[in-house]
Amino acid sequence: MKRIAVLTSGGDAPGMNAAIRSVVRTGNKKGWEVFGIREGYTGLINESFVSLGPRDVGGIIQKGGTFLGSARCEEFKTEEGRLKGLRSLNENRIDGLVVIGGNGSQTGSFLLYKLGFPVVGIASTIDNDLVGTDVTIGVDTALNIALEAIDRLKVTGTSHKRGFLVEVMGRNCGYLALMAAIAGGAEAVVLPEVETDPEEIADIIRNAYERGKSHAIVVVAEGAKYNANRLAEYFEKHHESIGFALRVTILGHVQRGGTPSAADRILASRLGAGATDCLEREEYGVLVGWMEGKIKTTPLKDVVGKIKKIDLDLFKLARILD
Ligand code: ADP
Repeated sequence: MKRIAVLTSGGDAPGMNAAIRSVVRTGNKKGWEVFGIREGYTGLINESFVSLGPRDVGGIIQKGGTFLGSARCEEFKTEEGRLKGLRSLNENRIDGLVVIGGNGSQTGSFLLYKLGFPVVGIASTIDNDLVGTDVTIGVDTALNIALEAIDRLKVTGTSHKRGFLVEVMGRNCGYLALMAAIAGGAEAVVLPEVETDPEEIADIIRNAYERGKSHAIVVVAEGAKYNANRLAEYFEKHHESIGFALRVTILGHVQRGGTPSAADRILASRLGAGATDCLEREEYGVLVGWMEGKIKTTPLKDVVGKIKKIDLDLFKLARILD
């Protein structure tokens, strides 16, 4: 009988619980023993293992976050830390490890794989910046939270003729900002991937005011050169008025904490099953993702150190629709 382990690492994302549940239940179904590792690579190094049966993962599919806990573990970035992790897996007679997480976590999983351990990664981050998958677990929920916030800001903006600079998460990748801008009907969007002249944004806002719009929404990715605060500072310094009175709203961690959407629960359930299938056919060192409507595995070596590109046609569309 195989003994496998699963951990969640890095920034938590809604749907991680559904992925753990799927790994546990599909693994059990194959006749394997499944262990959860608490708090990501920290728990791996400290041998914080817990045996999980199908009933232990009951009632978690609808919960955001991760019941195993997640952590940022600096020690795992060192060779010594990873060797400790490897020792811990071997001492607990684990035959395969599933790592649920984003870019940083999958870099860690790749390095562990390179030490000779059978590892499979599952793409999970609200940033949707991982190569090897069209969507990551958590991004749909985060997007819907951002959208609800934008809808609400429009209501209050309309009452006071205000404009809002709404900052959404995305350090290197503007996916969330771009999609939130399109779905939220924003006047403008500012992304890390596209150089933005603040004067152009000022013109768009002023123009919207002069056309008689009752509010203006600019969606800004946190990683853009001009994030929401910097944009507000720029306008304050260089313009007496651009029509609307502007307010900054930073959504921050609110975007992470939501109840996972149906799409995230289904994606997580599929990717969890995809990961145990990989372990069964001994396909290791891969990321399990979702591409063109199917489960797709991509070697981790082709995933790590890369950031998925945004679709520039969608950026153009956002501009046309504003
Ligand atoms: P995410 O997985 O959401 O991108 P982080 O970038 O914070 O989150 O990474 C999560 C954890 O993955 C880190 O705390 C560390 O333990 C591990 N990790 C990240 N980068 C590396 C690296 N270059 N080498 C080894 N482990 C890493």
